[in-house]
Amino acid sequence: MAKKFHISAFSKGLYSNWFWHHPSRTLFDCGEGFATYAGNFIFGVERICISHACHGDHIGGLATFIGIRNSSRGDKEKPLDIYYPGNDVAILDYQDFIKRRFGNWLTFKINWHPTMFGEKIPLDSNHWIESFELSHTKRSSTIGYKIIEGRSRLRAKWKGLDIPALLKNGLDKSQLNENYNAITLAYCLDAFRIDSNHIVNAELAIMDCSFLNVADRDESTHFSLNESLALCAASDVKHVVIAHISSRYDNKKIQDATDNLSPEDYTVIWPNKVNEF
Ligand SMILES: [Zn+2]
Ligand SMILES: [Zn+2]
Repeated sequence: MAKKFHISAFSKGLYSNWFWHHPSRTLFDCGEGFATYAGNFIFGVERICISHACHGDHIGGLATFIGIRNSSRGDKEKPLDIYYPGNDVAILDYQDFIKRRFGNWLTFKINWHPTMFGEKIPLDSNHWIESFELSHTKRSSTIGYKIIEGRSRLRAKWKGLDIPALLKNGLDKSQLNENYNAITLAYCLDAFRIDSNHIVNAELAIMDCSFLNVADRDESTHFSLNESLALCAASDVKHVVIAHISSRYDNKKIQDATDNLSPEDYTVIWPNKVNEF
Protein backbone atom coordinates (compact mmCIF):
# COMPACT_ATOMS: atom_id res chain seq x y z
CA MET A 1 0.00 0.00 0.00
CA ALA A 2 1.44 3.37 -0.98
CA LYS A 3 1.72 5.53 2.12
CA LYS A 4 1.42 9.29 2.22
CA PHE A 5 5.01 10.18 3.04
CA HIS A 6 6.76 7.18 1.42
CA ILE A 7 8.86 6.50 4.49
CA SER A 8 9.78 3.20 6.14
CA ALA A 9 11.15 3.54 9.64
CA PHE A 10 12.30 1.79 12.76
CA SER A 11 12.95 3.84 15.88
CA LYS A 12 13.56 2.69 19.40
CA GLY A 13 15.72 4.92 21.59
CA LEU A 14 19.08 3.35 22.54
CA TYR A 15 18.45 0.30 20.30
CA SER A 16 18.10 1.24 16.64
CA ASN A 17 16.95 4.10 14.44
CA TRP A 18 16.64 4.35 10.68
CA PHE A 19 14.31 6.29 8.39
CA TRP A 20 14.21 5.43 4.71
CA HIS A 21 12.77 8.27 2.65
CA HIS A 22 12.06 6.49 -0.62
CA PRO A 23 11.49 9.50 -2.97
CA SER A 24 14.94 10.98 -2.23
CA ARG A 25 16.58 7.53 -1.95
CA THR A 26 18.00 8.68 1.36
CA LEU A 27 18.47 6.73 4.57
CA PHE A 28 18.55 8.90 7.67
CA ASP A 29 20.67 7.00 10.20
CA CYS A 30 21.51 3.33 9.84
CA GLY A 31 20.63 1.52 13.04
CA GLU A 32 20.66 -2.27 13.12
CA GLY A 33 18.00 -4.13 11.17
CA PHE A 34 17.85 -1.84 8.16
CA ALA A 35 19.45 -4.28 5.70
CA THR A 36 17.18 -7.06 6.99
CA TYR A 37 14.19 -4.90 6.13
CA ALA A 38 15.46 -3.61 2.78
CA GLY A 39 16.60 -7.02 1.44
CA ASN A 40 16.92 -6.92 -2.35
CA PHE A 41 15.67 -3.33 -2.41
CA ILE A 42 18.86 -2.10 -0.75
CA PHE A 43 19.93 -0.33 -3.94
CA GLY A 44 17.04 2.05 -3.36
CA VAL A 45 19.40 3.86 -0.99
CA GLU A 46 21.90 6.21 -2.65
CA ARG A 47 23.04 8.11 0.40
CA ILE A 48 23.09 7.71 4.17
CA CYS A 49 22.87 10.77 6.41
CA ILE A 50 24.18 9.90 9.87
CA SER A 51 23.08 12.20 12.70
CA HIS A 52 25.79 11.05 15.13
CA ALA A 53 28.06 8.03 15.12
CA CYS A 54 28.97 8.13 18.80
CA HIS A 55 25.64 6.46 19.74
CA GLY A 56 25.33 2.98 18.26
CA ASP A 57 21.56 3.12 17.80
CA HIS A 58 22.14 5.43 14.80
CA ILE A 59 24.93 3.56 13.02
CA GLY A 60 24.97 -0.04 14.28
CA GLY A 61 23.60 -1.42 10.99
CA LEU A 62 26.14 0.20 8.68
CA ALA A 63 28.55 -2.73 8.27
CA THR A 64 25.68 -5.12 7.45
CA PHE A 65 24.22 -2.58 5.04
CA ILE A 66 27.53 -2.37 3.16
CA GLY A 67 27.99 -6.16 3.18
CA ILE A 68 24.51 -6.78 1.79
CA ARG A 69 24.87 -4.06 -0.83
CA ASN A 70 28.10 -5.74 -1.87
CA SER A 71 26.56 -9.16 -2.31
CA SER A 72 23.00 -8.42 -3.50
CA ARG A 73 21.91 -8.42 -7.09
CA GLY A 74 21.79 -4.91 -8.44
CA ASP A 75 23.84 -2.03 -9.67
CA LYS A 76 26.94 -3.00 -7.72
CA GLU A 77 29.12 -0.28 -9.10
CA LYS A 78 26.82 2.52 -7.98
CA PRO A 79 28.74 4.58 -5.41
CA LEU A 80 27.36 5.14 -1.92
CA ASP A 81 27.54 8.56 -0.25
CA ILE A 82 27.74 8.70 3.53
CA TYR A 83 27.40 12.01 5.41
CA TYR A 84 28.32 12.29 9.07
CA PRO A 85 29.34 14.95 11.63
CA GLY A 86 32.87 16.05 10.71
CA ASN A 87 34.07 16.09 14.33
CA ASP A 88 32.66 12.69 15.29
CA VAL A 89 35.70 10.48 15.85
CA ALA A 90 33.54 7.38 16.42
CA ILE A 91 33.08 7.17 12.66
CA LEU A 92 36.80 6.43 12.29
CA ASP A 93 36.32 3.06 13.98
CA TYR A 94 33.50 2.15 11.60
CA GLN A 95 35.50 3.31 8.57
CA ASP A 96 38.50 1.31 9.72
CA PHE A 97 36.44 -1.84 10.28
CA ILE A 98 34.74 -1.52 6.90
CA LYS A 99 38.06 -0.97 5.14
CA ARG A 100 39.63 -4.03 6.77
CA ARG A 101 36.53 -6.22 6.48
CA PHE A 102 35.69 -5.51 2.84
CA GLY A 103 39.05 -4.31 1.54
CA ASN A 104 39.58 -4.99 -2.13
CA TRP A 105 36.42 -6.90 -2.79
CA LEU A 106 34.07 -3.98 -2.29
CA THR A 107 32.42 -3.59 -5.70
CA PHE A 108 31.37 0.03 -5.22
CA LYS A 109 33.01 3.22 -4.03
CA ILE A 110 32.06 4.71 -0.68
CA ASN A 111 32.27 8.49 -0.66
CA TRP A 112 32.69 9.59 2.96
CA HIS A 113 31.56 13.18 3.54
CA PRO A 114 32.54 14.80 6.83
CA THR A 115 29.76 17.35 7.23
CA MET A 116 29.41 20.57 9.20
CA PHE A 117 26.29 22.62 9.91
CA GLY A 118 24.73 24.52 7.01
CA GLU A 119 26.10 22.33 4.21
CA LYS A 120 24.03 21.57 1.12
CA ILE A 121 23.74 18.09 -0.36
CA PRO A 122 22.28 18.26 -3.89
CA LEU A 123 19.44 15.87 -4.80
CA ASP A 124 17.96 17.08 -8.09
CA SER A 125 17.35 20.39 -9.89
CA ASN A 126 15.02 21.81 -7.21
CA HIS A 127 15.66 19.64 -4.14
CA TRP A 128 18.58 19.50 -1.75
CA ILE A 129 19.38 18.45 1.81
CA GLU A 130 20.74 20.96 4.32
CA SER A 131 22.50 20.01 7.55
CA PHE A 132 21.81 21.86 10.80
CA GLU A 133 22.72 21.73 14.45
CA LEU A 134 20.90 19.59 16.99
CA SER A 135 21.79 20.02 20.67
CA HIS A 136 22.21 16.51 22.00
CA THR A 137 25.44 15.04 23.39
CA LYS A 138 28.73 16.66 24.34
CA ARG A 139 30.72 13.83 22.74
CA SER A 140 30.35 15.16 19.21
CA SER A 141 28.15 17.33 17.04
CA THR A 142 24.76 15.92 16.16
CA ILE A 143 23.43 16.83 12.75
CA GLY A 144 19.82 17.32 11.73
CA TYR A 145 19.00 17.12 8.04
CA LYS A 146 16.22 18.90 6.19
CA ILE A 147 15.04 18.31 2.65
CA ILE A 148 14.37 21.60 0.90
CA GLU A 149 12.29 22.14 -2.20
CA GLY A 150 12.76 25.29 -4.25
CA ARG A 151 9.33 26.72 -5.04
CA SER A 152 7.77 29.82 -6.53
CA ARG A 153 4.67 31.76 -5.39
CA LEU A 154 2.75 34.94 -6.20
CA ARG A 155 4.30 37.93 -4.41
CA ALA A 156 2.18 39.10 -1.47
CA LYS A 157 1.68 42.56 -2.98
CA TRP A 158 -0.27 41.10 -5.94
CA LYS A 159 -2.59 38.91 -3.87
CA GLY A 160 -6.28 39.65 -4.45
CA LEU A 161 -5.54 41.88 -7.47
CA ASP A 162 -6.69 41.32 -11.03
CA ILE A 163 -3.51 39.75 -12.45
CA PRO A 164 -4.60 39.60 -16.15
CA ALA A 165 -5.46 43.32 -15.96
CA LEU A 166 -2.10 44.16 -14.37
CA LEU A 167 -0.27 42.26 -17.11
CA LYS A 168 -2.35 44.00 -19.75
CA ASN A 169 -1.36 47.34 -18.25
CA GLY A 170 2.31 46.54 -18.68
CA LEU A 171 3.37 44.68 -15.52
CA ASP A 172 6.42 42.56 -16.36
CA LYS A 173 5.48 38.88 -15.91
CA SER A 174 8.79 38.18 -14.17
CA GLN A 175 7.68 40.49 -11.33
CA LEU A 176 4.67 38.34 -10.42
CA ASN A 177 6.34 35.49 -8.54
CA GLU A 178 9.05 35.11 -5.98
CA ASN A 179 11.18 32.07 -5.21
CA TYR A 180 11.21 30.55 -1.73
CA ASN A 181 12.50 27.43 -0.03
CA ALA A 182 10.06 24.98 1.55
CA ILE A 183 11.14 22.38 4.12
CA THR A 184 9.47 19.15 3.06
CA LEU A 185 11.11 16.97 5.73
CA ALA A 186 13.17 17.73 8.85
CA TYR A 187 15.02 14.87 10.56
CA CYS A 188 15.69 15.74 14.21
CA LEU A 189 17.10 12.70 16.04
CA ASP A 190 18.56 13.04 18.67
CA ALA A 191 17.96 16.42 20.32
CA PHE A 192 16.83 18.27 23.37
CA ARG A 193 17.03 21.70 21.74
CA ILE A 194 16.61 22.92 18.14
CA ASP A 195 16.58 26.39 16.65
CA SER A 196 12.98 26.59 15.41
CA ASN A 197 14.14 28.21 12.13
CA HIS A 198 15.28 24.77 11.05
CA ILE A 199 11.81 23.27 11.19
CA VAL A 200 9.55 26.28 10.63
CA ASN A 201 6.61 25.47 8.33
CA ALA A 202 8.05 22.00 7.67
CA GLU A 203 5.62 19.62 6.04
CA LEU A 204 7.01 16.80 8.12
CA ALA A 205 9.28 16.82 11.17
CA ILE A 206 10.69 13.60 12.60
CA MET A 207 11.14 14.42 16.28
CA ASP A 208 13.00 13.00 19.25
CA CYS A 209 10.23 12.25 21.76
CA SER A 210 12.26 9.94 24.00
CA PHE A 211 10.36 10.66 27.21
CA LEU A 212 6.61 10.51 27.46
CA ASN A 213 6.90 12.28 30.81
CA VAL A 214 9.50 14.95 31.39
CA ALA A 215 9.89 13.71 34.99
CA ASP A 216 11.40 10.46 33.65
CA ARG A 217 14.41 12.32 32.24
CA ASP A 218 17.59 12.50 34.31
CA GLU A 219 19.98 14.12 31.85
CA SER A 220 19.17 16.82 29.29
CA THR A 221 19.97 15.03 26.06
CA HIS A 222 16.50 14.28 24.66
CA PHE A 223 13.17 16.02 24.26
CA SER A 224 10.08 14.89 26.08
CA LEU A 225 6.94 14.33 24.01
CA ASN A 226 5.29 17.57 25.15
CA GLU A 227 8.41 19.64 24.49
CA SER A 228 8.63 18.28 20.95
CA LEU A 229 4.95 18.84 20.29
CA ALA A 230 5.08 22.40 21.68
CA LEU A 231 8.12 23.28 19.55
CA CYS A 232 6.43 21.90 16.43
CA ALA A 233 3.20 23.78 17.18
CA ALA A 234 5.12 27.03 17.68
CA SER A 235 7.03 26.41 14.43
CA ASP A 236 3.89 25.63 12.38
CA VAL A 237 5.06 22.13 11.49
CA LYS A 238 2.29 20.49 9.51
CA HIS A 239 2.88 16.83 10.42
CA VAL A 240 4.84 15.58 13.41
CA VAL A 241 6.47 12.16 13.59
CA ILE A 242 6.87 10.97 17.17
CA ALA A 243 10.06 8.92 17.30
CA HIS A 244 12.97 7.63 19.40
CA ILE A 245 10.58 6.62 22.19
CA SER A 246 12.38 5.08 25.15
CA SER A 247 12.07 1.30 25.56
CA ARG A 248 10.82 1.85 29.14
CA TYR A 249 7.33 2.55 27.74
CA ASP A 250 5.09 -0.28 26.56
CA ASN A 251 2.52 0.12 23.78
CA LYS A 252 -0.28 0.83 26.26
CA LYS A 253 1.64 3.77 27.76
CA ILE A 254 2.47 5.11 24.30
CA GLN A 255 -1.16 4.71 23.26
CA ASP A 256 -2.37 6.58 26.35
CA ALA A 257 0.11 9.42 25.82
CA THR A 258 -0.77 9.93 22.15
CA ASP A 259 -4.46 8.98 22.12
CA ASN A 260 -5.77 12.50 21.75
CA LEU A 261 -3.53 13.38 18.78
CA SER A 262 -5.18 13.38 15.36
CA PRO A 263 -3.64 10.84 12.95
CA GLU A 264 -3.99 13.52 10.28
CA ASP A 265 -1.33 15.62 12.00
CA TYR A 266 0.76 13.08 13.91
CA THR A 267 2.38 9.72 13.25
CA VAL A 268 3.61 7.55 16.10
CA ILE A 269 6.67 5.42 15.32
CA TRP A 270 5.96 2.32 17.36
CA PRO A 271 9.11 0.71 18.74
CA ASN A 272 9.61 -3.02 18.03
CA LYS A 273 8.24 -2.90 14.49
CA VAL A 274 8.90 -1.32 11.13
CA ASN A 275 6.50 1.57 10.50
CA GLU A 276 5.45 2.59 7.00
CA PHE A 277 3.76 5.92 6.62
ZN1 LIG B 1 19.51 7.68 19.80
ZN1 LIG C 1 22.05 9.91 20.68
